[in-house]
Amino acid sequence: MDFENTIGLETHVQLKTRTKMFCGCLLKTGCEPNTNVCPVCLGYPGALPVANKEAIRLTVMSGLMLGCEINRHATFDRKNYFYPDMAKDYQISENGNPLCIGGGVTIETPNGPKTIRINHIHLEEDAAKINHYAQTSGVDFNRGGTPLMEIVSEPDMASADEAIAYLTALKEILVYAGVSDCNLEEGNMRSDVNISIRPVGETRLGTKVEIKNMNTFKGIHAALEYEARRQRDCMAHSMPIVQETRRWDGEALETASMRTKENAHDYRYFPEPDLVPVALSDEQIEEWRSLLPEKPEARRMRMIEEYGIAEYDAGVLSQAKANADFFEAAAKGLDKKTAKQLCNLYMSDVMALLNASGKEIGECALAPTALRALVTMAAKGVINGPTLKELLPEVFEKGGDPEAIVKERGLGAVSDTAALEAFVDQAIAANPGPVADFKAGKKAAAGFFVGQVMKLSKGKADPKIVGPLVARKLAAI
Ligand SMILES: [Zn+2]
Repeated sequence: MDFENTIGLETHVQLKTRTKMFCGCLLKTGCEPNTNVCPVCLGYPGALPVANKEAIRLTVMSGLMLGCEINRHATFDRKNYFYPDMAKDYQISENGNPLCIGGGVTIETPNGPKTIRINHIHLEEDAAKINHYAQTSGVDFNRGGTPLMEIVSEPDMASADEAIAYLTALKEILVYAGVSDCNLEEGNMRSDVNISIRPVGETRLGTKVEIKNMNTFKGIHAALEYEARRQRDCMAHSMPIVQETRRWDGEALETASMRTKENAHDYRYFPEPDLVPVALSDEQIEEWRSLLPEKPEARRMRMIEEYGIAEYDAGVLSQAKANADFFEAAAKGLDKKTAKQLCNLYMSDVMALLNASGKEIGECALAPTALRALVTMAAKGVINGPTLKELLPEVFEKGGDPEAIVKERGLGAVSDTAALEAFVDQAIAANPGPVADFKAGKKAAAGFFVGQVMKLSKGKADPKIVGPLVARKLAAI
């Protein structure tokens, strides 16, 4: 029997706010344990929470980017559980009435584009961090109360590849919107994944297994592949698949059972009595909507149209907002042909310089106007190709105005035909051997003379003019 996978993701994203979700404590990493704490995030009895408006704005911005419907009246609930990482014995979350509902993320699959639906996005607070030492354990409440946005997808993904494509697209959109850094190493984006299998053609979902708290795309991919295989093995051997939470062991490369799945009623959710509902007006939502950036996908399409660049290049550029911003600033006012040359130079040489230096585009000395000046000078024949390639690393490293540098050092290309003709004559006169070769039918000998002219002009001759000139002179001998 053939089986298909149904995969759903619950992705926790740390929001880029200055302070915590329900108190004014600063969100800073690398501090001494329990230094950014107060009675609210330590769960003291009687301390009252106040919702962070910026966290609400960022969640709504995410919802708008993802095509969600925004709830004008979201409410908070208490999720009750006992564990040392939550001193008040409950987590404040939006259980039944979240901020954003519906929406979706479109991914590319081998069978064409596919939309992964989003069920909802809700806002909650993170738990504290438990550190384990040789003999003891300690709880660090600096992280306790960090605003988390949880994006819950529908079980619309059919493979580990689709899950990673979904997460990649989601990350791209959230970074674009400035909602989160989505830094995986720092745990800014963590996912619980659930997977079940069912016979092809069956419409009911199979028994699902959840794998908790994964923060690398590689781990998520491997865990899903493993679990899809394990569940098929169970089916093949008539063993039941148990509804449970499993843990991914990155060293053994397998999942292991942690606990059988708890149900929502185990948490005894009830409305949080200390917080008022989040009342949002249409005007407020429209104001935030007007501040949204262009989505990466839309930008990709526009850049292809506007600058005539290749689909692949537009895809790479739009993936990181900083690259796309730089390219567009540099290409401003250029015709399509020159913009395409600028794109080629960016994709090859500038990217190589970035890789080699380990820098992001915003961290190097190259200004968009400087790159535009270089490409424009080359397109107009003011400088030749070799001079462009020589100047770029220098301007990348030290900055400066390429036009002024060319003028100051006399690097302008020699395109004056009379001057070039003199070089060609000189090269021919000095090299009777290659001339004889050419006459004997070795047409490749012409390339030798182009090289000689470049040398005589100290690299400043325009090879596009020299080539035909050499051909004409040699033919006339
Ligand atoms: Zn606090």
